[in-house]
Amino acid sequence: MSVPLLDLRAQHAVIRDAVVAAMMPVVDDQAFILGAPVAQLECEVAGLSNTKYAVGCASGTDALLLALKVLDIGPGDEVITSPFTFFATAGTIHNVGATPVFVDIDPKTFNIRPDLVAAAVTSRTKAVIPVDLFGQIAPIEEIRRLLPSMPIIEDAAQTIGARRKINGEWTMAGQTATIGTFSFFPSKNLGGYGDGGMMVTQDEAIFNRLMRLRTHGSVKTYFHEEVGFNSRLDALQAVVLKAKLPYLAGWSAKRRENAAYYDAAFADLAEITTPFIDPANESIFNQYTIRVETRDDLKAHLASRGIGHSVYYPLPLHLQPCFSYLGYREGSCPVSEQASHEVLSLPVFPELTRAQLDEVVAAVRSFYGH
Ligand SMILES: *Cc1c(COP(=O)(O)O)cnc(C)c1O
Repeated sequence: MSVPLLDLRAQHAVIRDAVVAAMMPVVDDQAFILGAPVAQLECEVAGLSNTKYAVGCASGTDALLLALKVLDIGPGDEVITSPFTFFATAGTIHNVGATPVFVDIDPKTFNIRPDLVAAAVTSRTKAVIPVDLFGQIAPIEEIRRLLPSMPIIEDAAQTIGARRKINGEWTMAGQTATIGTFSFFPSKNLGGYGDGGMMVTQDEAIFNRLMRLRTHGSVKTYFHEEVGFNSRLDALQAVVLKAKLPYLAGWSAKRRENAAYYDAAFADLAEITTPFIDPANESIFNQYTIRVETRDDLKAHLASRGIGHSVYYPLPLHLQPCFSYLGYREGSCPVSEQASHEVLSLPVFPELTRAQLDEVVAAVRSFYGH
């Protein structure tokens, strides 16, 4: 028996009828761009995120790009972020003409270290992009405490619906940042049937300008207050996501259950460091990522046993060839570099059966002679 890293068909089998029923009215209307379905989804995602506003766009990458644009970030500006993330976090900083500044991560949570963020601030720093990696929210309140007036773009592509307790109160992913960004890429916890993204904010002026930026900088058709983008969420994606949204909390709970099952099953193996969840966080486990010293050997062993797995991320962004112009070297962000050699993500999707979980556990344990 083999176990995939992610099985979207297992999810589809459960929700197929609801999703298809939601799609047909859009098809019959032939109204595919924005419109009421997108406005309804924006309302629901704002509700989930405890934000006043939400703006749909074409992808999680574009959500970051538009967030940078709405803060007027461009050439000459610096934006501080993590090198241990998906490429889009820093690629968008480059693409608005600004300079990505990488600071290292916490070795346990893999999230950015607020003290290093504060130490990297210069007169040119215009924003910080903390990334909520693998499903748990970054310590945004600590960044805000150290840098009270610095705009914060929370890359929440992996954390829609995740929670963090701040001063005894639960807060949602995207809620406490200047702008929070989500991705609806199919493999994310809330995935569409194609690309999609969303930005959330508490700020009305930011909201109004984001609405304009996603439609070529125009509110009134054919009249342009500024040069914007074509970055809209399709109505079909919106109805798919709206049909899936009621399942999200249950799916996230199932992922936490699966994670707890692995935690217990690996507890006696000194060679494996299981995921550390900050006690302030409730993770949605976009990934279940272990650390091991002999990662590539374990990886080959799992491959030979048909167990799905992946390395997020094998090369930190400060060492990517495209960013060599920034002048970082091996050793610039040692914690991220070590993580890139040791991490391995295992299947944690909600529909995993007990037999599949046991198959993964047996394959990992057998590598260590158990
Ligand atoms: C997936 C992801 C993105 C990009 O989202 P897309 O919808 O694929 O453009 C950005 N940041 C992080 C951390 C991600 O995981």
